[in-house]
Amino acid sequence: MTTFPAGEQTHQAVLPQQPALESVGADTPGSRDETARGHPATARGTGRKHGRGETDGRGTGPRRRHAETSASAMETAENGSGDVPTHGHAYTGGIGASRVFVLSKDGRPLMPCHPARARELLGKGRAVVARQVPFTIRLKDRTLAESEVDGVQLRIDPGSKGTGLALTDEKKEADEQGATVTVRRGLISVELQHRGDQIRMCMQQRAGYRHRRRSANCRYRAPRSNNRTRPGGWLPPSLRHRVDTTVSLARRMCRYAPVTEIHIERVAFDTHAMSAGRPLTRAEQQQGTLAGTEIRSYLLTKWNRACAYCDATGVPLNIDHLRPRSRGGSDRVSNLVLACVPCNQAKGSTPVEIFLAHRPDRLAKILRQVRTPLHDAAAMNATRWRLTEGLETLGRPVHAWSGGRTKWNRTAMGLGKTHTLDALSVGCLDHESGDAIVRLPVQVLIVKATGRGSYARTTPDRFGFPRLRRARTKQHFGYVTGDLVRAVMPTGKWAGTWTGRISVRAMGQHSLTTTAGRFNVRYRNLRLVQRGDGYGYATRQELVPSPSRKPVERRANSS
Ligand SMILES: [Zn+2]
Repeated sequence: MTTFPAGEQTHQAVLPQQPALESVGADTPGSRDETARGHPATARGTGRKHGRGETDGRGTGPRRRHAETSASAMETAENGSGDVPTHGHAYTGGIGASRVFVLSKDGRPLMPCHPARARELLGKGRAVVARQVPFTIRLKDRTLAESEVDGVQLRIDPGSKGTGLALTDEKKEADEQGATVTVRRGLISVELQHRGDQIRMCMQQRAGYRHRRRSANCRYRAPRSNNRTRPGGWLPPSLRHRVDTTVSLARRMCRYAPVTEIHIERVAFDTHAMSAGRPLTRAEQQQGTLAGTEIRSYLLTKWNRACAYCDATGVPLNIDHLRPRSRGGSDRVSNLVLACVPCNQAKGSTPVEIFLAHRPDRLAKILRQVRTPLHDAAAMNATRWRLTEGLETLGRPVHAWSGGRTKWNRTAMGLGKTHTLDALSVGCLDHESGDAIVRLPVQVLIVKATGRGSYARTTPDRFGFPRLRRARTKQHFGYVTGDLVRAVMPTGKWAGTWTGRISVRAMGQHSLTTTAGRFNVRYRNLRLVQRGDGYGYATRQELVPSPSRKPVERRANSS
């Protein structure tokens, strides 16, 4: 797990932030971000607030070019597999620095503020650093009662490997015609990386040890009666971990930010929105409406992203009617399959029974699969239901949405596919009447579940023989594996200042992981930044698809 490059540091008490976009006027009411007091009016569709020191396309640095190339690469990859239909539009909103959490004097959450504002408050001594990662400041001179807090929404896109979380604020604004539209701004993006695979591997390893002990030491013992039951609602540990870490991170977000409602993507497909009997319009089949997107994602999952007739993958896939519409075939999902372009054209308006007359086994397979509902989706949804139940204990209203709607919002806004951008797109967004996402944070905080070590005191080699014996204590010379530290190396190849996650050794020669690599540090050269909490932290740039905007040189850091 790597953490921040030390070169991005901007304040001795502040972990690397995005460079200030433009200086904010000192203590002017208009710049009081954390209270949202006196916000200047915003030009719709840009998310630009000059009064708050934001100018479009600033402060993203040279990495932007990489983001663009990967964005276009991802787009072609998605289009190549026929996943996302080609939309003409690109993302038209703005980008901005990831916000900083602000707590009041009494420790209650206020509106997150711009990093420049946080630096200002810290420099004037009006605030103190409450936590390094995620960076949180606490005001020394204002309580919650004296502040205006609008509230933010927490949006969650659960996934198997990673979960995206986004804090947004939504404002009603009048557009040019005077109609009221909702504009959504992304404040903070977090990507939670799960360790379900590791947990699964550890459980298998434990089972292996137990099997070996059983056969080696208790060879003649009678089998124990199989009277174990699992409690209702039991989930495998790897899946439960996914639910638990997500709820726990959401709880922390509610502690640091004034979350008023939680939006979660709960089901992959909204079967209501698919509205089976209604004819699909041509636009719907290719791109477009919510119902069309739902059907596309459903079919892609059901047919495993492959052509139903020739099993081709990685090619553009069309929606094909088993019984052609010209012969009275319906648009129900039970009449739809995915076909590659050659197969689709070869079939034309032939009924499937005639088209596959010479391949009866293939015909039988398709007819069987087309009638089977999606069981995998149901299993996946079970975890999501548990997640929703867990989130409901946080005391905020929880709204559940479908994955098809997320994708619909995301493609309509011209955003790329990452967990955090998905999270930003979760929920109701009526873009046909002008609602839009007008800002997204350029930096994403990656929170990787690392665990807190293992109880086992012996590390085996890959054959199960003891390799090394660990000490009884976890702490060595004041540090525990997982602590976030700053190292000052006086000499040598790694001379300089580094920030990263430490892995301790009993002799005091600890191992530090940074973005540039891993090296050994004597404990005397370390300073504790934050105690390990079972997570490793890093940042990455958000995937910002903005071909229209030229990258601007990064400003020199004033550190
Ligand atoms: Zn085919």
